[in-house]
Parts: sequence; structure tokens; C-alpha cells
Amino acid sequence: MILNAMLGVTRVFVIWSKGEASARRVADVLATPADLTVLPARKEDKPEETAPAPHVEFRDVTFSYTGLGENISHLSIRLMRGESLGILGATGSGKSTILNLLMRFYDPDQGQILIDGRDVRTIPPEELRPKFGVVFQNDFVAEGTIADNIRFFRPLSDEALTRAAEDAQALEFIENKSGKMNAPVAVRGNNLSGGQKQRLLIARALAGAPEILVLDDASSALDYRTDARLRRALRTNYRDVTTILVAQRISSIRHCDHILVLSDGQVIGSGAHQELMETCEEYRMIARTQMGEGKEGA
Ligand code: ATP
Ligand code: MG
Repeated sequence: MILNAMLGVTRVFVIWSKGEASARRVADVLATPADLTVLPARKEDKPEETAPAPHVEFRDVTFSYTGLGENISHLSIRLMRGESLGILGATGSGKSTILNLLMRFYDPDQGQILIDGRDVRTIPPEELRPKFGVVFQNDFVAEGTIADNIRFFRPLSDEALTRAAEDAQALEFIENKSGKMNAPVAVRGNNLSGGQKQRLLIARALAGAPEILVLDDASSALDYRTDARLRRALRTNYRDVTTILVAQRISSIRHCDHILVLSDGQVIGSGAHQELMETCEEYRMIARTQMGEGKEGA
């Protein structure tokens, strides 16, 4: 008995020292000052009164993560409110980087990114972040219930959750679960299929009534029919929401108002689907392999 007690005491010391080290690291992270500070708005950053400013604008943006090669070079985009942008490109071509810049996880090395004519560097994070509804490329579903995952700690009504789930084409599988919205979700969503997880994440992005919807490869696991239904729901119920879609499938982005084809951080094609079919060799090649020659697909 005495020996056991002694062992118990030594265990406490081991746990204590581990806990102390972890607590110090957590405190360090919490105390790290933000290096992307909010700049004061200059006069020329204020929206112009005359013509309406584009909702989202990239002005000759160049960016490099490491300072060694450019990951995005001289990118310019103008999107009016409610327009959609599709981004297509090989892996590593800089698609997610564009989204990181827009949401200001990084600042561009050159050029400016503007939302409603205001430089994103002058918009405080608590105003900037709620503008976006976003599904990241490797986003995660957390343990809890389906409703928890869609609500995601925001004060949203049950109706908003249901509406978002319906538009994200998730309501069907949720209704089939026992417990419906309160059905349990396992750690990392392990009891859901890939497509179900993606739809749950899209519902989360839609639920907050975003101004700008950003989907990074968020419908890759959906079958073509569900993907088409999702796009239709976005087009009809989110008319005023500016949408940026990153996809591998041409069918997911061919109806977008603007499409960018990226290669190594360079824009090698830009325009609407038909325009790109005529002008961009790369795009034509991708279209040919995915939709069959000459066919337009659905
Ligand atoms: P995928 O289709 O695979 O998602 P992507 O087009 O989204 O590719 P990005 O994630 O934008 O590609 O990456 C563009 C380039 O930037 C890649 O060469 C990548 O190696 C580099 N990169 C991405 N994130 C970082 C980072 N945090 N630090 C340094 N380099 C990075
Ligand atoms: Mg990516």
C-alpha cells in the first residue's frame, strides 16, 4: 500500500511537469501579437461615390509565401455583387492562395485587395470575417450533433439551420438519420460519408448569411446530380451573394460569370466558359477530357 502511494505521488509530478510545459506553450500562442494589423483607412481607400465599386477586387496582386518564387503574380479580378468566379488549375497553381489573400490570412507583397472599394487591410477582423461563408479545402467536422456543426457557435435560429441544410442538399440525409438535426456526429465526422461531410460544411458556410461565399473544392465528393442541384440552389436563393468556387470539375464552374485558369500562379485564361473554349488551349483540353469532345455536358 505504501509503495502504491509513493508511485501515485511520483505520477502526480510527471503529470504536473507535462501540464506546466503545455500551459506555457498555450499561453505563448495566446500572447503572440497579431502581425497583420489593421491599417487606418486612407482617403483613396474610401469607396467612390460615383460608380459602384466592385464587390471584390484584386488589383495587380503579387504574393509569395517564402519570398523565393511568386505564388501569385499580377492577378487582377473584378467581381460585382452577386457575380460568381470559378477558379480552375492544377494542384499547386495558387487557387487556395487567392482565397487566403482575400480573407487576409496573408497580405499581398504588391497590389491591393478591395471589398466594396475598401482595402481589406483597413477592415477590422470582426467586420471582415463575418462577410465570408467559407468551406476550406480540408475543413473539418467536429464531434457533436449535426445542428452544432452547422451552427458553429453562432447565434443562429433553427430555421436558418434548416434552410442552409436544404440549400446545401444536406437535409435529405439529415432527415434520414435518427434524431435528425440532433443526430450525433463522431470525432472528425467519421460516421458520415465524404459527400455528407461536404454538404454539412456547405450548410455551415451558408447558414451565416454571408456576403461572399467561398468554396474551395467543396463539392468534389458530390455526385454530378447533387452537385448540379447545389449549384441551382445557390443561383436561385443566393443571388446577392458573390461566390468564388474552386473546383477540379469543369461542370462545377462552367456556369460562373468569370472563370480563371491558373498555372503556377499565373492567369493563363480568363473569361466565361464559351470564351475560354475559344481562346484558352488549356481549358479546352481539360474540357475535352472531362466532357468528351464537342459535347457540352450538363
Ligand atoms: P490544390 O489544387 O492542390 O489545392 P492550390 O492551387 O490550392 O492546389 P496553393 O495551396 O494555392 O495551391 O499553393 C500554391 C503554391 O504555394 C504551392 O506551390 C505551395 O507549395 C505553396 N504554398 C502553399 N501554402 C504555403 C505555405 N503556407 N507556405 C509556403 N508555401 C506554400
Ligand atoms: Mg488548394
